[in-house]
Amino acid sequence: MCGGIVASVTSIRLSPSRVSEFNNCPRLYKYRVIELLPEPPSIDAERGTLIHTILEDLFDLPAQERNHQSATAMAPSRWKDQIEAKPELANLVLNEKEWLDRVEALLKNYFLLEKPESFEATHREMHLEQDLTTEVYLHGYVDRIDVAPTGEVRIVDYKSGKSPKPGWEEKALFQLRVYALLYWRLHGVIPTLLVLHYLGDARTVKSSPKEAELISTEKKLLAIADEIIEAIEKDHFPPKPSRLCDWCFFKSICPAHN
Ligand code: SF4
Repeated sequence: MCGGIVASVTSIRLSPSRVSEFNNCPRLYKYRVIELLPEPPSIDAERGTLIHTILEDLFDLPAQERNHQSATAMAPSRWKDQIEAKPELANLVLNEKEWLDRVEALLKNYFLLEKPESFEATHREMHLEQDLTTEVYLHGYVDRIDVAPTGEVRIVDYKSGKSPKPGWEEKALFQLRVYALLYWRLHGVIPTLLVLHYLGDARTVKSSPKEAELISTEKKLLAIADEIIEAIEKDHFPPKPSRLCDWCFFKSICPAHN
């Protein structure tokens, strides 16, 4: 199901991706979330899905087998499963060898960042959800949550792209702070560490969330929820042109470009 489907004007579903979509461009949010307009698959998004599947399944292997070779060996079968579930992907990748080589390179970078043979993943692809208020339901899928025997919690997210430029890390961490807020609300424990692994350039962004940051994240979410509800009530979703327009499928119908 779509992450941010609106149930009614006064009751909305929020997820980190829908929040960032609305912030980036309210018009794009309208096309995707309100009007549910179809979009063709994106090669980058599908590559990200494949990498996530492999890294999820990697932890099913015995610890000593969690290595680059095993991960790479999973790629063809997981890609086949992905195509079976979404046959239109077959036309997206014209050179399968090049495609799998790129996936192999990203997986190689993953093993520069972590040693998965040295720990167990407590949760993978975990769905966290919570009503922030009677009007705002918040949810998200977390790539991995590791709970240490001593109780410390680490939230991990994989990105198949490159890390943000210096100064943009905070924006990137918003998504993980939302997960940390959800985890805290659900389990009464503030995660010790938030980790973003960027496989595109083998870099990691980390942060130790403080209670005040999570409270501030909650306030931001509620403020954005108010903005979205107002936008729906007034049917006012202005386009916000940016570099993203170059990749936006809706450019041909967007008033900013017509
Ligand atoms: S083309 Fe640009 S301004 Fe228009 S909807 Fe897409 S991202 Fe927004």
